[in-house]
Amino acid sequence: MTTLSWSAGVLAALSFVLAIGFSRHRLLLVATVLGAVVAARVDGGARALQSSLAFAPMLWLVAAVMPEARWRTRRNAGWLLLFAFALLMSLHAPAHVIDRLDRFLIGLWPGNDPGRGAMAMVLLAAACCLLRWILRGAMAELTASLALLAAALALAVWHDASRALQSLAASGGVVVLGLLYGAYRMAFVDALSGLRNRRALDEALEKLSGRYAIAMVDIDHFKSFNDTHGHAAGDVVLREVAARLRRHAGGAPYRYGGEEFCIVFEDAAVERADDWLEAVRAAIEARAIRIRPIGRDGKPGKPRDVKVTASIGIAERSDKRKTPKEVITAADKALYKAKGAGRNRVMRG
Ligand code: GH3
Ligand code: MG
Ligand code: MG
Repeated sequence: MTTLSWSAGVLAALSFVLAIGFSRHRLLLVATVLGAVVAARVDGGARALQSSLAFAPMLWLVAAVMPEARWRTRRNAGWLLLFAFALLMSLHAPAHVIDRLDRFLIGLWPGNDPGRGAMAMVLLAAACCLLRWILRGAMAELTASLALLAAALALAVWHDASRALQSLAASGGVVVLGLLYGAYRMAFVDALSGLRNRRALDEALEKLSGRYAIAMVDIDHFKSFNDTHGHAAGDVVLREVAARLRRHAGGAPYRYGGEEFCIVFEDAAVERADDWLEAVRAAIEARAIRIRPIGRDGKPGKPRDVKVTASIGIAERSDKRKTPKEVITAADKALYKAKGAGRNRVMRG
């Protein structure tokens, strides 16, 4: 076996194991077929090649169309049966059955190449995942889409062993990288606001040295906002406030927890921190946020524009407070002063 065959096989196996580990069932199905297809391409026999062209696109397409569900569902069991059936047919079906499937694939794309028809079906599967990613933004869907795209390219050059294996290795590599990147995001990025989360902040604080300042931002009267308009509307506000922070904060914004955010300013940014924080405060106050408040019947009502304000406390590292923890405590005290002084303002600690 060549290095390329090994790489494609190892990446397919790794994507299979990681998909199980992260409970990404669609990617697990994609990786299962990928493993079988790599095995067929490495085997290189006419029968293995012909039957993987005949069955893999169909299995990938069904895996792409199915909704991502818990593992033990009838749908997944049905798909596994289909996979087992395809394996059985690949090994034992009479030649005319496989020929007929090949002819069906030839009909899907101009020319006389079943590989192109197979590519078209897998591209359709990739488009299906891409659409789901656009609508819902789940990283695993983008990963599945890119992995299927690489697999489609492999089928298009099916008779060229080395190019096909390169694309299959790329497909496995995409699944592995996509799952690892997805895990990184889950660990360090807050899903609601899209800002880096508390864990990322704790790590950043450990690395701080030299001149720095930390600001704490807290939305005003947010509990009563939630009570009046509902939690879903509150979540829209959190996303909007996060967007204002990203655009105007100047420093590095994090979601500290709940409706509290933290901004870290380093080196030269410390000089301008007060101006930026004032800009953030003004931008939050000015922004009309479109929400759909929950009505008395518990259903979302007509869209409506609302405004919120935020209070901000900032503190800089000094001889009195040398550690990030002490600076955050001072920023927190300044924040409470801002709350006490009537909210919607920036105060220095
Ligand atoms: P203050 O002006 O003094 O800050 O008053 P407050 O009501 O904002 O302060 P408090 O800390 O009492 O309330 C925070 C509220 O934030 C409570 C909780 O319902 C809400 N909250 C925390 N996390 C989330 C979230 O992820 N989504 C939504 N919608 N609300 C959240
Ligand atoms: Mg709070
Ligand atoms: Mg608050």
